[in-house]
Amino acid sequence: MKISLIIPCYNEQEVLHKLYDRVTPVLEKTGDDYEVILIDDGSRDNSLSIMEEFHERNSKWKYLSFSRNFGHQTAVSAGIFYCSGDCAVIIDADLQDPPELIPDLICKWKEGFKVVYAVRKKRKEGIVKRFCYSAFYRLLAKSASISIPLDSGDFCLMDRVVLNRIKSMPESNRFIRGMRAWVGFKQIGIEYERDARAAGKPQYTFSKLLRLAFDGIFSFSTMPLRMTAVFGFIISFFSFIFAAYSLVQRIFADFFMQYNFKLVPGFATTIVSIFFLGGVQLICLGVIGEYIGRVYDEVKRRPLWVISKASGIDTEE
Ligand code: UDP
Ligand code: MG
Repeated sequence: MKISLIIPCYNEQEVLHKLYDRVTPVLEKTGDDYEVILIDDGSRDNSLSIMEEFHERNSKWKYLSFSRNFGHQTAVSAGIFYCSGDCAVIIDADLQDPPELIPDLICKWKEGFKVVYAVRKKRKEGIVKRFCYSAFYRLLAKSASISIPLDSGDFCLMDRVVLNRIKSMPESNRFIRGMRAWVGFKQIGIEYERDARAAGKPQYTFSKLLRLAFDGIFSFSTMPLRMTAVFGFIISFFSFIFAAYSLVQRIFADFFMQYNFKLVPGFATTIVSIFFLGGVQLICLGVIGEYIGRVYDEVKRRPLWVISKASGIDTEE
């Protein structure tokens, strides 16, 4: 049995040596053959030269380097594409996911599970970030057409059958944890506590996280489109009621006057409804635009990444 370890890295020079020291003994102890694939996602620091050093020290540590920053999900996709193991484990470079959990993942895999994903029990991150993550996963679970497990990130083990399926998916908006759930088979989660970053700064900026969240929702659900129609119905319903009320008020003005009912002058209502409807229409257009943009991305059929350098991996295909 051969295990591939896929590690996307973007500006991780502070943490790479720690990563090497913690990962190697764990993999040696499993007794299986292994390879480690580091994907340099266009780092601007010394990450690449550290990777070269690792490869010289231990040929089981391989790397490939992107020509620019393509993003975490793309880096993971490239790892899945080029790995040669019977299974692959995806792990972050920053040691937030403990490598010591890998033997447990392998153990479950050998029991027959095709996907073993790690579920974060506790996060050592700020309260705002934790709230956002938690809200996102619950929203995703409610909206997605397949069931994507709550609070599980990309830290997981996937069997060769799952890897081959994901490899054959041509989409350019990649949301690995969704694609993994889509493939199906026997999947199981195991809980762990997510550590804080070992060193260096988070490479996921707020806008990248938002992008990932959008990819998750829009790639795995058409609920936003349906919501626009629901919005439309709700607003139409209320405007009909309001129109009927206004008509009645006009016709029976004298009757209303008796009870001291003042007629609405109408100016504020007009302005408010114009702005409100304008806003709703823009939101709906935005949602439709989001899907059209994604369709546009897909029809272009651009390659997902460009490799500038690789060692130990055959990238000529
Ligand atoms: N990463 C990447 N490309 C990017 C951003 C991040 O390959 O554009 C990698 C990064 O090096 C790390 C992993 O993705 O190994 C997770 O990133 P980070 O720790 O910044 O995210 P967080 O843990 O805050 O979600
Ligand atoms: Mg991290």
